Amino acid sequence: MKIGVIGTGYVGLVSGTCFADSGNDVICVDIDEKKVEKMRNGEVPIYEPGLNRVFDRSIREKRLSFTTDLEDTFQKSDIIFLCLPTPPGADGQADLSFVLNVADQLGDLFNKYPDYKVVVNKSTVPVGTADKVREKIAAKTDTEFDVVSNPEFLREGAAVEDFMYPERVVVGTRSEKAAKMMKTLYEPFVRSGNPIIIMDERSSELTKYAANAMLATKITFMNEIANICERVGANVDNVRRGIGTDSRIGKRFLFAGIGYGGSCFPKDVQAIHHTAGQHGYDFKILDSVMKVNESQKVSIVEKMKKHYGDSLKGKTVGVWGLSFKPETDDIREAPSLYITDALGKLGVKMKAYDPEAIETFKEAATEDALNNIEFASDRDAVLDGVDALVICTEWNEFRRPDLENFTKLMKEPVLFDGRNLYDLERAEEAGITYISVGRPSVN
Ligand code: NAD
Repeated sequence: MKIGVIGTGYVGLVSGTCFADSGNDVICVDIDEKKVEKMRNGEVPIYEPGLNRVFDRSIREKRLSFTTDLEDTFQKSDIIFLCLPTPPGADGQADLSFVLNVADQLGDLFNKYPDYKVVVNKSTVPVGTADKVREKIAAKTDTEFDVVSNPEFLREGAAVEDFMYPERVVVGTRSEKAAKMMKTLYEPFVRSGNPIIIMDERSSELTKYAANAMLATKITFMNEIANICERVGANVDNVRRGIGTDSRIGKRFLFAGIGYGGSCFPKDVQAIHHTAGQHGYDFKILDSVMKVNESQKVSIVEKMKKHYGDSLKGKTVGVWGLSFKPETDDIREAPSLYITDALGKLGVKMKAYDPEAIETFKEAATEDALNNIEFASDRDAVLDGVDALVICTEWNEFRRPDLENFTKLMKEPVLFDGRNLYDLERAEEAGITYISVGRPSVN
């Protein structure tokens, strides 16, 4: 099939590359000329495990190309994917200007090249957006076309794997013709029997928000259980194991920590909360989820204040991990941004390391944070001479350090672990002061 992908971010580039890998001819278009130039030179502009290999192969086989030319892409495509940003706008509602501006341009192009095509919205968008896109295009042309909702469920850090082997594909359309094209396109990805679920556009649009809001709620619920554990002297790891074995609850997504971040959960929870409000419904659970997550992100700073009192100012603290989760360079809404800002404001000096996200962090961090941070080239260089260590992201390389290094290299071996990486007994044996989330403090 001939596919055009508009927007080559985490979703667009992964989708385009994987569609090309399954034998389609894919043109990816972006307005960011520098990014397009990089990709034309064979460079993947984001860090995403496994993407390089599939990207190189698709380019070699001449099935994947990059351009800034929307008109040419339109002419050559039967299906056009919108993978555009939908950032939070006023009051938390999704900003649809990127999507609707492109829809407007597509209207003109349909008018100029009047062949049937399917426009697929892969961005996460509020209910009713497919109708809005359809109206925008129809205002400019009488050409037959369809607008389909096809939300994306990939996770950054495992995006290629998730795209290649999706647990389900959701397609929102009432057009049989469009549904048939979408099934043909996705069949190679669900050979093992996972479903392609066809539904109406509005249900499909809401499905994506429901999924993200449910996951954010699950994380937040466990964070609240962790907060109670700290107050009653229980251990959230034990509680997690105790409830996760109940198949109605399940084992996944029950890990307590310093809150969810990333480009999706925060903005999508806000957006569905806003949509509910617009329709006269007060989505109370999500109100609490947002509030709890806000305080959870800086809960570790509160623990540091409690531990050090006034002497926190003037300390030098190491920071392990900046990205919002491991295996990505994405820093959007990462707890590290809030923690480093709060510590910077308190006059704490920091030394930070992340395997992939230092550059993206520099672009997003506040002045208070950046004025007080120096960056280290590796994990152990951070430890050298610091008074304490804060762990913000559970990168694999932080999971199994030689615990003795903490006592050997740090001025004082005091760890504030936002991701519960270490066994309490091992920390105790190693003589580390270890303060984590929802578990008893050690030493
Ligand atoms: P992103 O910000 O990484 O990428 C968006 C890209 O669109 C950028 O490269 C930008 O230059 C380009 N762009 C902007 N305007 C354009 C235009 N007029 N024409 C062509 N290109 C244009 O965004 P993302 O993370 O890929 O997310 C895209 C959408 O997918 C969002 O709605 C997001 O909520 C949703 N989503 C994201 C993820 C994720 O893990 N990142 C997962 C599922 C769904």
